[in-house]
Amino acid sequence: MSQNHTQDIQAATAPSRGDATLSHGRGAGSEALIVFSGGQDSTTCLFWALRRFSRVVALTFIYGQQHVQEVAAARTIAEEAGVEWHSMDVGFIAALSRNALTDSSIVMDQEKPEATPPNTFVPGRNLFFLSIAAVFARERGISNIVTGVSQTDFSGYPDCRDTFIRSLNVTLNLGLDTQVVIHTPLMWLDKAQTWALAEELGVFDLVRSRTITCYRGIPGDGCGHCPACLLRRRGLQEYLHSSQSPAKSYRL
Ligand SMILES: [Zn+2]
Repeated sequence: MSQNHTQDIQAATAPSRGDATLSHGRGAGSEALIVFSGGQDSTTCLFWALRRFSRVVALTFIYGQQHVQEVAAARTIAEEAGVEWHSMDVGFIAALSRNALTDSSIVMDQEKPEATPPNTFVPGRNLFFLSIAAVFARERGISNIVTGVSQTDFSGYPDCRDTFIRSLNVTLNLGLDTQVVIHTPLMWLDKAQTWALAEELGVFDLVRSRTITCYRGIPGDGCGHCPACLLRRRGLQEYLHSSQSPAKSYRL
């Protein structure tokens, strides 16, 4: 790990400065389980959670995504952040439907088709992830779940929308007889605002260089061409060109 990354993590795990972005919610003394892929969004959420909760546990799902590097990146980031990390094989999700994220023979949609989600949509993914996470959390007495879904940049995926998450939260509490709270810190942020949050949390460098958002499994700025890279890059450009970006000196 480079010095920069060490500083990133030390800064990110320091006590909260009490800024507005981080102040709402249950506060310290509680524990959270984060659904953690090792991508830009969930890594930003991991450090958000470290400011908010006294203990954070990360759970990474292996669901047949084409690139196992994602899982290795998730493990490394979690361990370096001092977060307890677990993985769970849910490969059945890939077998349930044909999609471009788990089947390399399908050419990825570059744009969302008018009438349907793009073929990178993995049906049921967040439904399964959050349901399993809720059971996992319940068994460990954890009452908070954090996920990096965003309605603003939801790429046409219906299970990233706020209504779905709220509805599932109610259903899970009814079905499990729990009072779990699903936190979605990125729900109303676009990608540029997510970069700003990473900066605010002191992990801009780490998120930019270490996370894997690329559908082809390439870390950092990725392949530059897949839909996930294009979305991430557009947000990064917008953020770096914005007046509030202290990271302006970074080259795109
Ligand atoms: Zn890519």
